[in-house]
Amino acid sequence: MFVTHLECSATGELYEADKPHNLSRAGKPLLVRYDLDAVKGALTREALASRPAGMWRWRELLPLPDGVEPVSLGEPETPLVPLTNTGGPNLLVKDEGRLPTGSFKARGLAMAVSMAKHFGVRRIAMPTNGNAGAALAAYGARAGMKSLVICPDETPAINVRETAAYGAEVYVANGQIDECGRIVGEGAAAGKWFDCSTLKEPYRIEGKKVMGLELAEQLGWELPDAIFYPTGGGTGLIGMWKAFDELEAIGFIGKKRPRMYAVQAAGCAPIVRAFETGAESAERWENAATIATGIRVPKAIGDFLILRAIRESGGAAIAVEESEIALAVEDAARDDGFLLCPEGGAVLAAWREALKRKLVAEGERVVLFNCANGNKYPLPDKSGRLDLAKVDLALL
Ligand SMILES: *Cc1c(COP(=O)(O)O)cnc(C)c1O
Repeated sequence: MFVTHLECSATGELYEADKPHNLSRAGKPLLVRYDLDAVKGALTREALASRPAGMWRWRELLPLPDGVEPVSLGEPETPLVPLTNTGGPNLLVKDEGRLPTGSFKARGLAMAVSMAKHFGVRRIAMPTNGNAGAALAAYGARAGMKSLVICPDETPAINVRETAAYGAEVYVANGQIDECGRIVGEGAAAGKWFDCSTLKEPYRIEGKKVMGLELAEQLGWELPDAIFYPTGGGTGLIGMWKAFDELEAIGFIGKKRPRMYAVQAAGCAPIVRAFETGAESAERWENAATIATGIRVPKAIGDFLILRAIRESGGAAIAVEESEIALAVEDAARDDGFLLCPEGGAVLAAWREALKRKLVAEGERVVLFNCANGNKYPLPDKSGRLDLAKVDLALL
């Protein structure tokens, strides 16, 4: 294991890595630091390529101690699929919908639950808009732990029921995700459970950062020109940005970085507002509403890290309307046979907007993140009705 310590993302204060942690004393996320010189000596691209595909091949850049088995449901390497008809051969979707539980929340929770189990935690909890809670419950079941999940009442029923199917205690509550999170935090402070909320423990982000590691390898160690990421809590965006620095430090990639675009829905766009006003952190978004529930996050604890990453990268934060999200989902499905989730639709819509604003050029290599399987979401009914006793074949 190459972990040296944990570090407060705001103050740089150091913490020991060998026990469970939530936020730093400053109330900010903790980040895992590694002895990257030692990783550089221990890991070659060739050795990596000879291992089975999937997130655990990156063991040297993950926090799990040597000899500890991960809690795993068989996390695959997710494919890069070009949306050739929608955007040309250089518009690639990284399809995170192929992961266990049908979303990339599996990456973060495979890692967080593995670490919690290693530390002897027996009960885990989180607030969720759907996908994270399902992944917490699935990995919790796998690890033999109890889980408790609190969802805002607009959470899609399919997620609420899936979470309960894994044996979790599930509550639907009258508030937004940050308000549900307050109860989870209070219970954790009272010693009832361990809080696995986004960026409130240090390991989910390490699982999510594998998206960046995988992407680099899949593209022959040459990062794309731009990445469009549907941003709620921002774990994946911050995680990938961290992954790129780690890959450079171990000599696997050079200095080139993609421009990072944080995509939000116009009905919940705190990061976009902060980006446009030049602020370093984001104010809470009141009356958040969007069909893209995975990015309905009014207040993100890692807001300053998201804003820093997109600014350093030369990217931006972009908001898209609900109608553009729906249109993007429809277009990719009809023209390329690819069913994006609504958050994935938001990202395609943002790429279109970025083309219009000349933030990206036609033909640049762009990676869009589709973070869940489109089949997890309700779709409009566009079928006709047939009376089989009176079918007129001429009309079909
Ligand atoms: C959680 C989620 C997001 C947002 O991910 P963050 O890394 O927390 O910003 C985007 N899309 C889907 C489908 C999600 O479930």
